Amino acid sequence: MNLDSKILDFHLSELQKKALKKLKIEKVRDLLYHFPTRYGDTSQTNFVENLESGMQATLFGRVKNLKTGKTFRSKMSQATGTFYDDTGEIKVAWFNQPYLAKMLNEEKIIRLTGKVSEYNEKLRINNPKVEEVSEIPIGVGNSLFGKDGEQHTLYPVYSESKGLTSNWIYHNIKKIFKNKFFEKIEDPIPIEILEKYNLPKLKTALIWIHSPHKESDALAARKRFAFEEIFYIQLQRQLARKERGQKKSFKIPVDQKEIKKFVDRFPFELTDSQNHAIGDILNDFKSGKPMARLLEGDVGSGKTAVAAATVYAVTNATPNEKQNFGHLQTAYMVPTEILAKQHFQNFITFFEHMHISIGLITSSGCYKFPSKINPKEATKISRTQLLKWVANGEIPILIGTHSLIQKSVKFENLAYVIIDEQHRFGTLQRQKLARKDDFEPHLLSMTATPIPRTLALTIYGDLDLTLLDQMPMGRKPIITELVLPNQREKIYEKIKEEIANGRQIYVICPRIEEPDPTKQTALNVKSVKAEAKRLKEKIFTKQNIAILHSKMKPDEKEKVMKDFEDGKIDILVSTSVVEVGVNVPNATNIIIEGAERFGLSQLHQLRGRVLRSNHQAYAYLFSDTKSDTSIERLKALQTAKNGFELSEFDLKFRGAGELYGKKQWGVSDLGMEAIKNLKMVEAARVEAGNIVEKNTLKNYPNLKSIIDGKTEVHFE
Ligand code: ADP
Ligand code: MG
Repeated sequence: MNLDSKILDFHLSELQKKALKKLKIEKVRDLLYHFPTRYGDTSQTNFVENLESGMQATLFGRVKNLKTGKTFRSKMSQATGTFYDDTGEIKVAWFNQPYLAKMLNEEKIIRLTGKVSEYNEKLRINNPKVEEVSEIPIGVGNSLFGKDGEQHTLYPVYSESKGLTSNWIYHNIKKIFKNKFFEKIEDPIPIEILEKYNLPKLKTALIWIHSPHKESDALAARKRFAFEEIFYIQLQRQLARKERGQKKSFKIPVDQKEIKKFVDRFPFELTDSQNHAIGDILNDFKSGKPMARLLEGDVGSGKTAVAAATVYAVTNATPNEKQNFGHLQTAYMVPTEILAKQHFQNFITFFEHMHISIGLITSSGCYKFPSKINPKEATKISRTQLLKWVANGEIPILIGTHSLIQKSVKFENLAYVIIDEQHRFGTLQRQKLARKDDFEPHLLSMTATPIPRTLALTIYGDLDLTLLDQMPMGRKPIITELVLPNQREKIYEKIKEEIANGRQIYVICPRIEEPDPTKQTALNVKSVKAEAKRLKEKIFTKQNIAILHSKMKPDEKEKVMKDFEDGKIDILVSTSVVEVGVNVPNATNIIIEGAERFGLSQLHQLRGRVLRSNHQAYAYLFSDTKSDTSIERLKALQTAKNGFELSEFDLKFRGAGELYGKKQWGVSDLGMEAIKNLKMVEAARVEAGNIVEKNTLKNYPNLKSIIDGKTEVHFE
């Protein structure tokens, strides 16, 4: 029995259908894989007769005497009722939520949680949370007897959404458990592997995760599903790697002298690290096998120069030995339009002397260098024209955003694909650009996001790795300061001096606008718009301030970036959009507001923005947190040696779920739990490796169908 094929066939209300769709639950498998977020423990529950004022209570029982009306004095709408169990009754009331009383059914058993208070010498519970349940779990109220070994059970609590209660989910999962086909579910993971690592079989694990008798069962089940996820990803990536290795690619001859001449034109000496990286890539080029390499280096470590030198090697090679005209082509994909334009400009400078064409494609327009009229400048051209020249091979270097991977973009001789800031794209997009029948282009992925080793082993299982672990010479290490509210003024004064000396500043705020005041939010977070206004009016009255955020139109953004680059703007207040490779060497100070809200690796990325010149750079982490742990955590930015260390800190302190960039990796929260566990990741890797190496996937049809399903490319 293959779980994937079975569609949910319950009778569903429209609201439920919508809610399920939102949770992406369509098939039986999806529902079974919708795991509880936590478990309630009946030993934490209570009986009415034992309640005292001030207690936080969880009770199981029923309600009666439900009434709706208005409160006596303030005329607020209210619903009241009496909750009772076998031991007594207590008054409950909801204010401003009269519909609650209508939704409750006096016949049904409910779970009620809330704080017990005292009013007119009587106990009551105001605004309790309630949920219908199908039965009273065994052991409710047992903690009260204080005896060891009393029977108690865990009940699952699922994340809820409108129209879908935790109990509905539980109830329907139990229905599936009783269904005949559930008996027939086969486990895709080979039994030898489960036994070797002492993991429960699929059926058992499903029962244990949804209705565990004891905590250790729930934990064992979670472990299995975490392993399962990592194992599937590993298997898929390693298969992709093997498949790629069997394909052919362009053999690119390497003329060391020519390349040296090219890099000698850079206004700097390459670091040893950069030279190594270029060496790795050129070596791959020579092999005739498609390269698949990840270049990982902190922000500012100089990845662009590595890319450019290797693009040069490709551009310089002719399409094949017999043909001595035309060029091999490179596609260079970056995540934002701002970056695409910056790279376009950079590449024009790098390649000007070669007299070749360079194209730029983004959703808001296409450009080509050089222009016919002015050979020193780029010119705007139509998309159709650009695509024509790309298709017939006349444009050897095409730089662009997502627009690069649309079907309409065809190359004559695509030999090299570079994906910059690759964590922004996700694996599937990466595969999409790289795919080309039997003849694969070489692929270079670049990222500045340091991620924990276990995660890298998993999601980059299909790539070879080159590290750029050296910063260009002459860079002074950044000075990072944690700034509490009473020290702000001092920092603002220092920044005024920096501006007077010609430097520029970024101010990063967590949000674009003030929250809607009609909506209740407890967040007191600085916004780009309000903070820019405040700084202009109160602090930096004489300096030029501009804002930049994702909701601005592309040409507005472009103008601001250009003005900032040209030094017309002193202070750029923005959201974290500038985190992606923007290069303004003269901007050497960064203030990050609400720093405690960001992960350490993200803060590290952000401060990298100001590490682009030989001026001393400063990062100021503004925070009004009172939490000692937050402060400790932020201090790691002063002591950690590099981004990798910080990502490991993030994993430890914030948990895998909060790791920066998480959304892009396609790993669930549960899968991320495995990432904390090096042994488990290694085990999954070894087992996946065995299957790939011995070519035994065909012996496990259920596993094969899951892995085949995974490689499907979904796209926008
Ligand atoms: P990233 O790795 O973040 O993409 P970039 O390639 O944008 O970094 O390089 C950051 C800055 O450092 C650029 O201004 C670039 O010209 C400069 N740079 C790169 N390599 C070196 C080097 N070896 N020495 C000095 N400056 C360099
Ligand atoms: Mg970069």
